Amino acid sequence: MARFTLPRDIYYGPGAIDELKQLKGYKKAIIVTGGSSMKRGGFLQKTEDALKAAGLEVKLFEGVEPDPSIETVYAGAKAMREFEPDVIVAIGGGSPIDAAKAMWVFYEYPDLTFDDIKDPFSMPKLRQKAIFVAIPSTSGTASEVTAFSVITDYSTHIKYPLADFEITPDIAILDMDIPLTMPKKLTAHTGMDALTHAIEAYVATARSDFSDPLALKAISDIFDSLVDSYNGSVEARGKMHVAQCLAGMAFSNALLGIAHSLAHKTGAAFGIPHGCCNAILLPSVIQFNSKVCMERYAQIARAVGLPGYTDKQLTDSLVEAVRAFNKKLDIAPTYKENGVTEEQFNELADSIAENAVKDPCTASNPRPTSVEEMKKVLTCAFTGENVNF
Ligand code: NDP
Ligand code: MN
Repeated sequence: MARFTLPRDIYYGPGAIDELKQLKGYKKAIIVTGGSSMKRGGFLQKTEDALKAAGLEVKLFEGVEPDPSIETVYAGAKAMREFEPDVIVAIGGGSPIDAAKAMWVFYEYPDLTFDDIKDPFSMPKLRQKAIFVAIPSTSGTASEVTAFSVITDYSTHIKYPLADFEITPDIAILDMDIPLTMPKKLTAHTGMDALTHAIEAYVATARSDFSDPLALKAISDIFDSLVDSYNGSVEARGKMHVAQCLAGMAFSNALLGIAHSLAHKTGAAFGIPHGCCNAILLPSVIQFNSKVCMERYAQIARAVGLPGYTDKQLTDSLVEAVRAFNKKLDIAPTYKENGVTEEQFNELADSIAENAVKDPCTASNPRPTSVEEMKKVLTCAFTGENVNF
């Protein structure tokens, strides 16, 4: 299938939340958010006020946890069925936005179960009851423009990436004031998540002439602004907020690769944040995939001005540049240095590798990956050794 799908509207800039005042023709909005960060920053109140100014009745669904569970999704869907909103507004990091997307599905189709929608592109037609507005507060997942929602089944410790253009939001609002409140560590992790999205999208099997320029522009803007953003530059925070969104537009359509397959499984198993897992995995995955798409990595390296003449030298430079990012962002570069013990690793590595091969992101990785190879890549990310097979 050749298809390229994005939200219809993207509003951006400082104070962009106020655009909600322009919503016309709707009656009731439910706001879905996380713990307390959006309330603390005053952004929840601002969202509520803007919706009320547009004449909407407003209800809140608060408390979506990081890496949202199936149970939270069902609880939110129930609240929606009771309130019957025609607008769903998700404000926060990837977690509340992803949770709200899945709630939307079960709100519109109460008889479905999680099992019915976990295969990619198996969702029924949405927008029968409500439209979806997403306001991201982190600069990483780009859930505000993507066809994905990652929900964790805590009984099996597995993250399920739901995927369907039906859950691509209708409106994304990038309010540059919001990422300014991110603590440093969150800025680092979500920024490396965005870099991984753009690099994986640039080499993924479903990449296209539409996704390539978005991915490359995202990579070069992230190279220019991530470290400054981490160190608190207001301008760089704004640039990262846009760059992560460009990366999202690319990967929502080009799909991802095995850094994400492994991040989805190791995040839940080792309790390490999603972006941090990607930061650890990315150098090993570039090395593994370079056997089949070295010229693509070389193009990236050239685009951001890294040193080297041959494709091999340029790819090595890209790996070194990613490692240098981890260093400048104070991200420990291996699972081992992130507190995973040998014992823990040996106990879980086989099942992680098996589950990662089954992750939908593996299908779009440029190099087909067996369970054995997946385990070897994972092992290199555990120890920090180079991948040379
Ligand atoms: P989360 O939404 O999980 O938020 C992490 C923490 O950051 C929370 O404690 C949250 O607090 C806090 N926080 C969020 N924004 C701010 C802010 N502006 N200022 C201060 N604190 C803030 O983080 P991510 O955005 O990294 O989302 C990760 C999730 O997204 C994972 O589940 C991952 O699997 C998924 N994901 C989804 C993708 C997609 O395409 N849909 C792609 C990649 C990852 P509080 O709860 O109080 O708001
Ligand atoms: Mn990600």
